[in-house]
Amino acid sequence: MKHVDHWIGGVLTGEGARTAQLFDPATGEVSGQVALASVEEVDAAVDAAARAFPAWRDASLVKRTQVLFRFRELMDAHRDELAALITAEHGKVHSDALGEVARGLEVVEFACGIPHLLKGGYSENVSTRVDSYSIRQPLGVVAGITPFNFPAMVPMWMFPVAIACGNTFVLKPSERDPSASLLIADLWRRAGLPDGVFNVVQGDKVAVDRLLEHPAVRAVSFVGSTPIARYVYETGTAHGKRVQALGGAKNHMLVLPDADLDLVADSAVSAGFGSAGERCMAISVVLAVDPVGDALVEKIVSRVRDLTVGPGTDPESQMGPLVTAAHRDKVESYLDLGVEEGAKLVVDGRETPVRGDRGNGFWLGPTVLDHVPPNSRVHREEIFGPVLSIVRVRSYEEGLELINTGEYGNGTAIFTNDGGAARRFQNEVEVGMVGINVPIPVPMAFYSFGGWKASLFGDTHVHGTEGVHFYTRGKVVTSRWLDPSHGGVNLGFPTNG
Ligand code: NAD
Repeated sequence: MKHVDHWIGGVLTGEGARTAQLFDPATGEVSGQVALASVEEVDAAVDAAARAFPAWRDASLVKRTQVLFRFRELMDAHRDELAALITAEHGKVHSDALGEVARGLEVVEFACGIPHLLKGGYSENVSTRVDSYSIRQPLGVVAGITPFNFPAMVPMWMFPVAIACGNTFVLKPSERDPSASLLIADLWRRAGLPDGVFNVVQGDKVAVDRLLEHPAVRAVSFVGSTPIARYVYETGTAHGKRVQALGGAKNHMLVLPDADLDLVADSAVSAGFGSAGERCMAISVVLAVDPVGDALVEKIVSRVRDLTVGPGTDPESQMGPLVTAAHRDKVESYLDLGVEEGAKLVVDGRETPVRGDRGNGFWLGPTVLDHVPPNSRVHREEIFGPVLSIVRVRSYEEGLELINTGEYGNGTAIFTNDGGAARRFQNEVEVGMVGINVPIPVPMAFYSFGGWKASLFGDTHVHGTEGVHFYTRGKVVTSRWLDPSHGGVNLGFPTNG
């Protein structure tokens, strides 16, 4: 049985009384325990980060970059090990876990360019013999609070940029799959990052609340469900912190009648059932514009019936189990609800065969609900599992209206061969990340990731230049080196001359 501890000031600690159980989602067996931090343990992590800050802030850009490059090499060399830890606790298939490591690594690579990213502007002679320049400085101790669905990638949206900018970091990973965070901490140590610059507190609401209240924590990045994102944003900002809080999602794919239906079906199935639908950018609703509905559903259903469900460690598996029994039960409850609300259950994931021994694993196979009514809970609520809803619409306008009146605005996609329609969609849709014939339009590391409406509280998206902005404060210096003609006292408003 493993025991997953905290990493504070370069030391593994976990003597506290509170713990939570860890499970192997493929078997349902308990695989270990994770420590749940007390207020004192969170304080110890923040203190360690605060002590490490002055020296790290003053480490030269070249030194910081060298550590980042070494970390990048170590992450690259340990991809497989990290992916195996993710599969063991999250359940996703190994290739998918490798994919999230690869996308996280891209943010590390982006952060390796920090000397360029932190360059300010310089204007000579803004007034006679006066120069002006801008600099960006780190904030101090910053915290990241992350969800279960990407235990490596989502933390890597945050800490590479934060640390590269000269901040020190406290990560509070999901208590459901915490092990990846400790391997990452060890790789930072081996890369030469000074103790205390990267810390991990395992935990639950107790740890989150303390991070939100602690006066030394200057900024909080959060990714998780919308109710908690809203709570984190309101509580953190009430305590004077800078907060970016990314919430839940319900992502639509709008299919126009001229689209290539084989491409659409491949894309909908890949984006709907990859990682068992437990992705914030998963496609959960297909809006099929008349008359393509019947033909498209037939193509989707035939592909879904060919999917192989099984343990994430089995190379034949395309889709693994859900993360916990409680989450599986919640997702499963939408199947009967959908039927009660008037939808047609065309593929029932409860009947899907599972490779090997099902054990007491948290299984639910890919499910397709057709003719889902637009006003139903199945259409409006985030299900966050392998349930793909098809909503039939009569026109582009009707589809757009459904997207824009939804609560969330994380990702969306349009499938069409009409460039004019696609261009109109990208202009009119109220969603932060838009795909054109691309079902999961996750921005690259050098752009910024984030949704609109209930999918993001705050005004800064993560990684890319917005991430650099979030983890730094701007300063503008106006300087004059005195010469004999400085002009003496002048009480007038400073103007340029
Ligand atoms: P969650 O909101 O339950 O948990 C996220 C984090 O908040 C965890 O670290 C958890 O320990 C903590 N937390 C949970 N309850 C809390 C409480 N009452 N008070 C304080 N902290 C609390 O989310 P999850 O189930 O781990 O992850 C799935 C959710 O995350 C989905 O809604 C998904 O859409 C969302 N998500 C969003 C994005 C995005 O970019 N917008 C990315 C990934 C996941």
